[in-house]
Parts: sequence; C-alpha cells; structure tokens
Amino acid sequence: MIENTNANMGDLQYWGGNVTIYVTNDGVILADCKFERAHDDVVAKVKSITDKPIKYIVLTHNHGDHADGAQKFESEGAQIIISNDDRTNMLRAPNAKWAPSATYIGQSRLYLGGKEVQLRQVRGHTRGDTLVYYPADRVISLGDLMTTAETIPNIVNYADGGNWTDWETSVNAALALDWDTAIPGHGPAVTRQQVIAIRDKMVAVRERVRALNREKKPLEEIQATLVKEFNWGAGPAGGVIAGMMIELR
Ligand SMILES: [Zn+2]
Repeated sequence: MIENTNANMGDLQYWGGNVTIYVTNDGVILADCKFERAHDDVVAKVKSITDKPIKYIVLTHNHGDHADGAQKFESEGAQIIISNDDRTNMLRAPNAKWAPSATYIGQSRLYLGGKEVQLRQVRGHTRGDTLVYYPADRVISLGDLMTTAETIPNIVNYADGGNWTDWETSVNAALALDWDTAIPGHGPAVTRQQVIAIRDKMVAVRERVRALNREKKPLEEIQATLVKEFNWGAGPAGGVIAGMMIELR
C-alpha cells in the first residue's frame, strides 16, 4: 500500500489517494494510481518491491486523486479497468479527454500469476465504486467508499451518483467478504472491526440528518449539530450536507 505520509487535505490535493500494490509472479496489479504528477513516485515504489511490470490498474472510481495517472500508465502498457458507470462519470467531467478501454458491469475477475482478484461494483461514494478483493491474502481495497484519516472525512459525491443509503449497503457487501485488512481511499489500513465502527458512525450521522431534516432544521443548525456530536460536517464534509437534506427527506 502506498499511503501519503501525512494524511491531510494538502497531501491529498498534491499526491492523491492510496494505492494498493498486488504482486504476482507474472506482473503487478494496482488499485488506483494517484495524480499523474505522482507517476514516477508510484513507479519507484513498485520497483522497490518487485521487478515485475505493472499489468493492470483497477480504478476504484473516477476521481482524479485516484485515476488521473491512469492514462500515462496505459501508454506504458498497463490495462486500465473501471466500472462502466464510473467510466461514464469520467467522460461527463469538463475537459474529459480520455477514459479506460476496459470496463465491467456488476462483477469481474482478474487472473494473473496464479492469483485471483475480484472486482465488485457498488454504489456509495459514486454510482460505480469498485471493491477490489484479494481473497488469497484476505485483503480488500475500498477506494473512497471509506476513508480512515481523521482529517479526510467520509463523504459521498452526489454529482457522481453517490448516495448514503446505498453507502451502508455497499459497506455491508464489503463486510460480507472474507478479509482481515481493508485499504481505504485515504488514511491508514484498518481492521474489520474498524470498518464496522466507521460504518456505524456514518449511519448514525445519516440518521441524525434525517431526523433534523424532518424537523425542518436549517442546514447551518444541522451542520453545527453534526460537528458537535460526531466531529463530522466541517471542511469538505460540509459540502455534502445540502445533498443529504434532499436524499434524506
Ligand atoms: Zn473520490
């Protein structure tokens, strides 16, 4: 896993999100690849653990901090894969010039060097998030379906089809798989118990928004309550509260 040393917004905006490096005898599979400006650093870190080539890059979703570097990796021979829905998100972005040539709908599998990687499409952070599951190693990459750094809050991206109700279902779908370690989109790797705790917190946040919204509380009051009770809703999380009030009527 390549995790930014300081999991804060500044690092996120410069380097991007976490990368999972999966090494097999016939090549490397990455989950996500950061901004293009981080390309050389990602390549150097892969080279520091294996001389095998990067064969596949699975993009957990379409956001630039996870996917921007993909076109350059493709030009160097990697096959890029993303859910069909998040490929559509990519092409909807202003100034979109490129999107991966390989997509899937629902589920897919990669087989390389005797190892298997399972891709599952879920909806939460975006309409087509991909869970990347490595069953032999009991590890899963969650992309931005989950963040674990205190400084980088869990959010859904409404513009790209995210949704808090499906978010819970999708985290539960991840928990239904057999793994011990989860690699989030941002922040340190976590255990199954930590994923459950984060899910429970965000479900409580969601239900608090639903209750306050039904009492017709204004956005400012809902936000202040969330910050006070859950330490969630300031900074980048504040921007999604208006969308939550529409979703959770
Ligand atoms: Zn994202």
